[in-house]
Amino acid sequence: MTILRPSRRDILKMSAAAPMMSLAAPAMANIGGPDGDQPAYFRFTLGEARMTVVSDGYFTGPIATVGVNADPEEVQAFMRSQYLSDSGVLNNTNHIIIELGEAKVLVDVGSGSRFAATTGRLLDNMASAGFQQEDITHVMLTHAHPDHIWGIRDDFDEAIFPDAQYLIGQFEYDWWMKPGRIDEVPDTLQQFVVGATNSLTADGLQLDTAADGHEIAPGITMISTPGHTLGHMSLHIESAGEQLLVIGDAIRRSVLNFAHPAWYGSVDMDPEATVKTRTRLLDMAATDRISVLGYHFPFPGVGNVIKEGDAYRFIPALWRFE
Ligand SMILES: [Zn+2]
Repeated sequence: MTILRPSRRDILKMSAAAPMMSLAAPAMANIGGPDGDQPAYFRFTLGEARMTVVSDGYFTGPIATVGVNADPEEVQAFMRSQYLSDSGVLNNTNHIIIELGEAKVLVDVGSGSRFAATTGRLLDNMASAGFQQEDITHVMLTHAHPDHIWGIRDDFDEAIFPDAQYLIGQFEYDWWMKPGRIDEVPDTLQQFVVGATNSLTADGLQLDTAADGHEIAPGITMISTPGHTLGHMSLHIESAGEQLLVIGDAIRRSVLNFAHPAWYGSVDMDPEATVKTRTRLLDMAATDRISVLGYHFPFPGVGNVIKEGDAYRFIPALWRFE
């Protein structure tokens, strides 16, 4: 198989052209940002598991990328009604480290220095939370989009968690790695194919593929949640009777997708499957009182789901001091 190897400069050039980074951060409600940096990690427990949400930063996208099957004016009016910008959408990047038994499982690796200037903060925030790179035993990859996987290798092209076993859905792997895929996708997706291929073949990567129901460690199970990408997978964690779904990009927006579950975005590769998976996950979370963590939800992105008629509402978890 021929593997494309564009230079780092090519990739930076391509990512600079990506439309999702063309906007400044959209204004949110009334409050502004802090004066200087703030370390972004959030710790909680789930049964016996010690959990840490760690941020890779944020990036923004045009409003036209969300609710593409709805009237744009209706989408904008809805955003304004929720104290959200009607010109752009803010994407947080909420990774989680699950410490349960012997396992320390990280979900997704962020985008490193290859995507947006406002992302690539994962390792710094992990260090602030007291983690070393060699602590991580497993890395679960939800899907192969840039913001989830382009940070898999450092600037010397080597895997950033050299001791970890990496796992990705079999279907997801096969889809991106299919020979000739780059010639089958629209121009706008070609850079994604190059980036995914380079990431999944990084030097020193111990990568295995997994199917629905694969148990990474006792209580930590990969589940199939296709739609956003065709082989997207999520993680179900259960400890001492408590459950959490780490849903990656199966549900991307904690306000819009909950209030209008049938609206999908331009990056959702299979719209019908996106909506079907989303409602299945929301129903499951609301009925069984399972907590959820959304990768792009407002940091730290963990909370609960309630059902209201045909819609849903996200209830963010409370900050806990001890
Ligand atoms: Zn994403």
